[in-house]
Amino acid sequence: PRQTEGPYYTPGTPRRSSFLEPGGKAERLVLTGRVVSPRCLPVAKALLDFWHCDENGEYDNAGFRYRGHLFADAAGRFRLETIFPALYPGRARHIHVKVQAPGRRLLTTPLYFPGDARDALWRPELTVAMAQQPRGKAAAFQFIVDA
Ligand code: FE
Repeated sequence: PRQTEGPYYTPGTPRRSSFLEPGGKAERLVLTGRVVSPRCLPVAKALLDFWHCDENGEYDNAGFRYRGHLFADAAGRFRLETIFPALYPGRARHIHVKVQAPGRRLLTTPLYFPGDARDALWRPELTVAMAQQPRGKAAAFQFIVDA
């Protein structure tokens, strides 16, 4: 499903697969997943543009901290290294994303976390699968993009 992009999207993000900063103390999060068609076939080379708040619940609206885009591979797989975003008032914890697969409709939505239904926008279909690993959290999500 599509949902609001919220007020804090900045276009023209850098291309990168890690938002981590030297010396950062926030808990790490690795988000992996796939982009597929409604028939569950891999969709190659989608652009995924992610943004989320920092460890204090604030967005960087002047620069590109915790903002960036990457491309899924030929099998539709992607991997982003970042931090576990903080909560900010009034919202369930989330990571924003725009998914633009070649020749398909732009998908804009937040991704949510399990068991965090603290606002009316949180939806189980938009919730990542979580695992705890020695070096931080791992999250997984499969995007289904329509034509
Ligand atoms: Fe937000």
